[in-house]
Amino acid sequence: MLIDICIQPKLIQILKDVWVPPATYTYPLLDCNAKRGLKFKHHWLNAHNWLAYSEKYQGAFCKFCVVFSKVGGVGGQKLGTLVVEAFTNYKKATESRLNGLATTAVHRGIIKITANEVLDELAKKNKKN
Ligand SMILES: [Zn+2]
Repeated sequence: MLIDICIQPKLIQILKDVWVPPATYTYPLLDCNAKRGLKFKHHWLNAHNWLAYSEKYQGAFCKFCVVFSKVGGVGGQKLGTLVVEAFTNYKKATESRLNGLATTAVHRGIIKITANEVLDELAKKNKKN
């Protein structure tokens, strides 16, 4: 995937600024999960470096897919949960299924091509500061 080098720093900044709820954050119990009493689990954020939580949408997104799908989709895959809509169906959020959610071609393509690049870039920036 080719990313315009002019917009790349902006995208990296967006990824850098992604809000991470504090460990003490109280995640809401949504109607769709009320029966099972399931809430977003903070440790998912630590286990999946692509995962971001949105307070506004009260659900999870893949930060890399959200940012990079705007500038170059891979293989014309339809974007869905975690990219254009928040992931809130927490009964599907066992470790294996959470990994399963991240195995769409778009996600894999983006993660493979750009995530490491971005993380390297972030690491470099962090060292300079
Ligand atoms: Zn993704």
